[in-house]
Amino acid sequence: MTARVEELRANLTAVEQRIAAACAAAGRPRADVTLIVVTKTYPASDTRLLSGLGVTDVAENRDQDAAPKAAECADLTLRWHFVGQLQTNKVRSVLRYADCVHSVDRLRLVTALSNEVRKSGRRDLGCLIQVGLEGDTPEAQARGGVAPARVEELAEAVSSAPGLRLDGVMAVAPLVGPYAGDPRAAFDRLAEIASAVRKAHPAATMVSAGMSGDLEEAIAAGATHVRVGTAVLGARPPLR
Ligand SMILES: *Cc1c(COP(=O)(O)O)cnc(C)c1O
Repeated sequence: MTARVEELRANLTAVEQRIAAACAAAGRPRADVTLIVVTKTYPASDTRLLSGLGVTDVAENRDQDAAPKAAECADLTLRWHFVGQLQTNKVRSVLRYADCVHSVDRLRLVTALSNEVRKSGRRDLGCLIQVGLEGDTPEAQARGGVAPARVEELAEAVSSAPGLRLDGVMAVAPLVGPYAGDPRAAFDRLAEIASAVRKAHPAATMVSAGMSGDLEEAIAAGATHVRVGTAVLGARPPLR
């Protein structure tokens, strides 16, 4: 455990240096960017160590793993972000721990989230519209995300849904389509979309973009939240 905490500390320091350098290069204050550590596939003990090292925000992408982990860490002061594709039958469980859902990408999910927030008695839930930048490819379906042309409609639906708060937009740099291999162009496109959303919804200021491999490009393009897994926790085993 001691070795693990030192490993996490060193990785966090390296990621912090990358974020600070990217902010400096972009002429942005460091405080503009929040690090969210993606703890998926790693045990609750790592989440606990990260909290002890000053991490304030963590993310998970599968409710089956996240729910027990969040329960084990209920005594910690952490903001939990849900960043994976969300089935409507998991919404109730996710609402028990998530402060913010980054993967809102369809009207049916908006309705389900709103209904469950009201039933749960919690005040509200932060929502980001996940934008799919894969273009018209089969992969667009698999990775989630709403097409850019439909973002405004969905943003309107979230902002008028009782119990939901529209916080901004999220994207993953696409592996296929017009932006494949060019994360900076993808994140610039996301920034345009974010700015259009803010015109109608000024409080929707979050831009969640950038992972271990492309956080510099995301910060250059204006990301306010980077979601970093591998660079902090180490390489994950291949998907089960
Ligand atoms: C896993 C994941 C990340 C983190 O990816 P790394 O490359 O490990 O930093 C970020 N965002 C989402 C949506 C993820 O599923």
